[in-house]
Amino acid sequence: MKITFLGTGTSMGVPLINCGCPVCTSADPKDKRMRASVKIETGGKTLLIDASSDFRQQALRFGIPTIDGILLTHPHADHIFGLDDTRIYSLREKRAIRIFGSAYTLKNIRHIFSYAFEDIRDERLIKPLFQLNQLKQKQELFGLNITCLRLNHGGMPVTGYRIGNFAYLTDFAEIEENDIELLYGVTHLVVGALRYTPSISHLTVGQAVQLIEKIQPKEAWLTHMSHEISHKKLENELPAPIHAACDGLSFHCPAGRP
Ligand SMILES: [Zn+2]
Ligand SMILES: [Zn+2]
Ligand SMILES: [Zn+2]
Repeated sequence: MKITFLGTGTSMGVPLINCGCPVCTSADPKDKRMRASVKIETGGKTLLIDASSDFRQQALRFGIPTIDGILLTHPHADHIFGLDDTRIYSLREKRAIRIFGSAYTLKNIRHIFSYAFEDIRDERLIKPLFQLNQLKQKQELFGLNITCLRLNHGGMPVTGYRIGNFAYLTDFAEIEENDIELLYGVTHLVVGALRYTPSISHLTVGQAVQLIEKIQPKEAWLTHMSHEISHKKLENELPAPIHAACDGLSFHCPAGRP
């Protein structure tokens, strides 16, 4: 299983519009962050976790040849606004995009993309074609064992994903002990870390490091980072085996069974 970071930035991206701070004006390409999402390539299938607001640029830059499924974490704009850009895949491949998520996320997708679900004939196929699939806590999909974890994002329920020995957890400030237990044995772990100072809806760098050290993966990366985080500075501070992710970075992880 190959995982590629399509975006590693927080909801506003980095650089921020009209910001003159050292990170937003940095010449280091690793300080340019599109909105957070990952591509997973496994057994000839291409899956995404989230379809970010920067989906089109991510597909052009990193290559998304086809989409066999999109696992959604939650319905905030930065994680779902790329869904409309999947129309080109439906048009070419004459199939709906399979979207997976919690009942809460899917209810919001129906509302936010209401035009995709209205019974309007559209011969040019300009409407997105979505097939929504509600996830249980555990299931086998695409030959992978997928476990959904319950994360709390300042009151909004967010789905974290364990896929074999890989886990992707972003946009949360709290995770219950029962859900942490589902992560033991993960070898490759991605955790969202907004900034150094506290937030009611995201982990800080320090809290993310603490959680990772509890789970003890072989390798881990921080993602969903704001402009307060310099890639180089964070990379120098983090204890091995934790790294600062950057757009385009990829790694391999055995798609083992949980
Ligand atoms: Zn987000
Ligand atoms: Zn800035
Ligand atoms: Zn969010």
